[in-house]
Amino acid sequence: MPDRKPIIVVGAGAAGLLAAGSAAAAGAKVLLLEKMKRPGLKLGITGKGRCNLANTAPVTEVLARFGRNGRFLRQALQAFDSRSLIQFFAGLGLEARVERGGRIFPVHDRAPEVVRVLRRWLESTGATLKCGHPVTRLRVNNGRLTGVEAGRRFYPAAAVILTTGGASYPATGSTGEGWELARALGHTIIPPRPALVPLLPVSTLPHHPAGLNLRNVRVRLKIDGKKRQEEFGELTFTPDGLGGPTILTLSRAAVMALADNRQVLMVIDLKPALDETRLDLRLRRDLEKRSGEQLASILRGLLPRELVPTALALTQLAPDRRGSEISAAERRRLRRWLKEFQIPIGGHRPLAEALVTAGGIALQEVDPRTFASRKIPNLFFAGEVLDLDADTGGYNLQAAFATGRLAGLKAASIQAR
Ligand SMILES: Cc1cc2nc3c(=O)[nH]c(=O)nc-3n(C[C@H](O)[C@H](O)[C@H](O)COP(=O)(O)OP(=O)(O)OC[C@H]3O[C@@H](n4cnc5c(N)ncnc54)[C@H](O)[C@@H]3O)c2cc1C
Repeated sequence: MPDRKPIIVVGAGAAGLLAAGSAAAAGAKVLLLEKMKRPGLKLGITGKGRCNLANTAPVTEVLARFGRNGRFLRQALQAFDSRSLIQFFAGLGLEARVERGGRIFPVHDRAPEVVRVLRRWLESTGATLKCGHPVTRLRVNNGRLTGVEAGRRFYPAAAVILTTGGASYPATGSTGEGWELARALGHTIIPPRPALVPLLPVSTLPHHPAGLNLRNVRVRLKIDGKKRQEEFGELTFTPDGLGGPTILTLSRAAVMALADNRQVLMVIDLKPALDETRLDLRLRRDLEKRSGEQLASILRGLLPRELVPTALALTQLAPDRRGSEISAAERRRLRRWLKEFQIPIGGHRPLAEALVTAGGIALQEVDPRTFASRKIPNLFFAGEVLDLDADTGGYNLQAAFATGRLAGLKAASIQAR
């Protein structure tokens, strides 16, 4: 059937590459249109350049990482779970390794290589990729899509899969255009907001230790004084706020609370391995043993050097006090600060700097068994363009791959009819 209309996939990110390749591998004629000069620009910088492809957690746990909307992904993830994903990439010659927390990475630790193997696979399936083709309109006639406009050209289509991503890291091509294309066809867009984004304190911390990375800390998020969520792991002091895996994970709830004008507080336990009693013993011992030394120097035995001036300022203790001069009340103040370093949060970095966009195409308008629009039967969605976002850990890419694959297969069955 040389003149049959193709399935057009809009956006060659993780979801679009899987959608286009899966549809073509299933026998469909496929055209993948990407607005940037190269496909997979975001995929190529994921996981700090290492690409955390997915997570080995059982499907139910992966769904939970997406919050309330997670169950929408059940069919897609069951059809393409982490084991199938590892097998799929192994089939392309890309071996994977599992790290702490079930995180799956390519053994060579090179995200651009992931893009390269997907591109090679895409070519092998017979799909056509055209870069430098921004899609500006989806054309509909009698309730069905007839094709897409890109530049000044019209491309007829049997079906369209919209995989334009979210609106974070716009330099990679993800600028939220897909939402406008879908909105023009009557789809509802849940307002986009940043998820996995650094947070900003209400006021700058004294001696803000920019660049300092803390490992093995416990961070509690309190909203209006009530504990909401807790994370254990790394925290980074960014140039003007807080980042790192613990904060990024807590940021989703924090951003929503800030939007509702609620009080957001981060409470950091810098010594989670020591309870109050043991920490007190440790402090006492340090102060006695080093009674002639200045407090600033004693604290360097307990804290990273960069955090000591902040600790002294916030506990209102002078750096040149001697160990022997610290009263029991002052020791308690110090102990409390080490267990409960409180940072009121007043804002967040912009959506453009978030790792993931929350919000997007409303899920009630999409069929989770096929990822087809409930409004236009030959329109499909996959990836971050949908109102889906998860914690760090490989879940976002896993969802983009799995939904892309399912949408591609289902769209291919439309063309076959
Ligand atoms: C720095 C960073 C690191 C990350 N690391 C990880 C990680 O390690 N693991 C993980 O699971 N997740 C990670 N994520 C999140 C993950 O990258 C995204 O969730 C995922 O890439 C979404 O895939 P997608 O295909 O839906 O969208 P995208 O990857 O954003 O792709 C969308 C594509 O559509 C194209 N496009 C947009 N509009 C048009 C148009 N009008 N016409 C044609 N083309 C268009 C864009 O140019 C782009 O190529 C990271 C994100 C960032 C920013």
